[in-house]
Amino acid sequence: MSSKQRTLKVPSLGGIDEVEVIEVLVSKGDHIHQEDPLITLESDKAAMDIPAEADGEVAEVLVKTGDWVREGDPILKLILSAAKDIGDPPQEEGKGEELKEEDQDHKKAEASAGSKAETQRVPVSGGDAVDLLVLGGGPGGYTAAFRAADLGLKVVLVEERPKLGGVCLNVGCIPTKALLHAARSIDQAAQAAKIGLNFGAPEVDFAQLQEWKQSVVSRLVEGLGGLAKQRKVRVIQGRGRFVGERELEVKTQSGTERVAFKKALLATGSRPVRLPHLPQSEHILDSTGALALKEIPRRLLIIGGGVIGLEFSNIYTDLGSKVYLVEMAEQLLPGLDPDLARSLKKALKPKLEGLYLKTSLESLQETSGHLEAMFKGQDQPLEIDKALVAVGRKPNSGDLGLELLGLKPNDQGLIEVDRQMRTEAADIWAIGDLVPGPQLAHKAMAEGKLAAEVIAGKQAAWDHRVIPAVAYTEPEVAWVGLSEAQAKEQGLPIETQVFPWKACGRALAEQAEEGLTKLIFHQETKRLLGAALFGRQVGDLIGELALAIEMDCQAGDLALSIHPHPTFAETLPLAAEMFERSITDLMPPKD
Ligand code: FAD
Repeated sequence: MSSKQRTLKVPSLGGIDEVEVIEVLVSKGDHIHQEDPLITLESDKAAMDIPAEADGEVAEVLVKTGDWVREGDPILKLILSAAKDIGDPPQEEGKGEELKEEDQDHKKAEASAGSKAETQRVPVSGGDAVDLLVLGGGPGGYTAAFRAADLGLKVVLVEERPKLGGVCLNVGCIPTKALLHAARSIDQAAQAAKIGLNFGAPEVDFAQLQEWKQSVVSRLVEGLGGLAKQRKVRVIQGRGRFVGERELEVKTQSGTERVAFKKALLATGSRPVRLPHLPQSEHILDSTGALALKEIPRRLLIIGGGVIGLEFSNIYTDLGSKVYLVEMAEQLLPGLDPDLARSLKKALKPKLEGLYLKTSLESLQETSGHLEAMFKGQDQPLEIDKALVAVGRKPNSGDLGLELLGLKPNDQGLIEVDRQMRTEAADIWAIGDLVPGPQLAHKAMAEGKLAAEVIAGKQAAWDHRVIPAVAYTEPEVAWVGLSEAQAKEQGLPIETQVFPWKACGRALAEQAEEGLTKLIFHQETKRLLGAALFGRQVGDLIGELALAIEMDCQAGDLALSIHPHPTFAETLPLAAEMFERSITDLMPPKD
């Protein structure tokens, strides 16, 4: 045992100058282990724990809550309990030699600074193969990588973007929800005028709003970087391509690196579908472009009335754009039961400058700084400033060298998998938007976790019955399980009950009375088969119904579970009471 003392210091803060110590997690005399969190730091972007680099006894704590610290500032003095005190595998690199303190500090700073320094620390190139290579750091990929590391595997995660989080965190779920929050604030202020609260017309500082939205994204993605480090998941930033059955080549900013692996998980996600007949124009955007606008467009055409198109329509109508929406199907959110689609249309249409259902876009031309859209069957072009193409997403399965793994995507470009997320190639798994099923972050995460467990040797398989989905419009739409139409197609004996939010006290008190809670039960077994909700923040209610379906709940289980009053959630048992004929909040049941 060595009695060498060492000062543990603040590592690289990833470009942040100074951060506040919000918690000190150790005290003098504590025996700590490598990776134990020492202090928690918080910047305006993220909170992060600083882990110990070695085992030992705390001799002196040199910071306190409320201090502001920079990279290299001392945190504490540690009496090392072992001669070899570097966290990451020194056997392969340091050959067991004890490094000088300054070398260790340098190593730690490099490790924190990024993948280039770490490259020298984990011998994945050439010789040793890592247990698991994860290609793609979206919600599916990072979840799988973290779970696999927690289960003891040595993991390398390759991601092309500068930050983890994939589409969802960087340019999808999170930034849209931040802008939708802003839109909702404007909408609610407008609604408040009807009850005597006049705030006047909103003044939108779009640059500030965009900056705030980006800060939300940064907090999350920086946090993921910290979580990867704490688990010793090595992240390589660069584009990966398989160059052999068990080897991936990564093009990084500083060159090329090869990673040998025993098993691999494909999590490369998806990208927006482009309409081939549309020209290249800076005014024709995909969802990523529509999130990055510097100015609120005066006139915006949205092509596609699915979830993404509707969320952007909500954002930009409330921010003041004149929004036109064109959809080929006869209703918004094709696939949703028509009664809910009608309610949604009724709520959204008044805000739109134009809604064209059962209409296809024939052409979109750029003419002197604006765009002209021609719809089939119309003789006058529609003049707009920007157009957003939101007609779906396609899997990123091209140019990955999959043929070298013995894999071929199906006709839609998806990789087929079994219930354990295994592809047809040995030791290769795939998850998320790259595989069949709804393109949703929570589905990708569930698949990632499952795949990691299977890869780590656990007994696990996909046995979820349902995956809930939400359109975060105002009001929201959420659905889970079978729709009424699907249940009828399957010939199931169903009974549908719709509880109108007009009879919900909370909804009336919150100007949200247009809501509907629709539950679909099996007539004979009385089990809940599906649900569709329309109303304020129903995205937060649908999880309960997913649980009810997973737990095989009958109408009585829902009706008899006491929900707090007054809440929107009460409408779930109330709809079940309608099925049970025990409802007292509406007219007496007829049968
Ligand atoms: P992705 O998130 O697409 O991540 C894949 C990653 O792999 C990417 O970061 C990519 O850079 C990387 N990659 C690809 N190829 C390579 C390569 N060769 N080398 C290295 N890296 C590579 N879902 C929801 O559930 N809720 C929502 O509210 C929601 N809102 C959305 C809003 C928008 C505007 C969009 C576009 C999507 C939204 N989604 C939402 C869908 C959600 O973002 C996706 O379903 C989810 O991100 C899929 O996760 P994934 O891990 O499969 O792939």
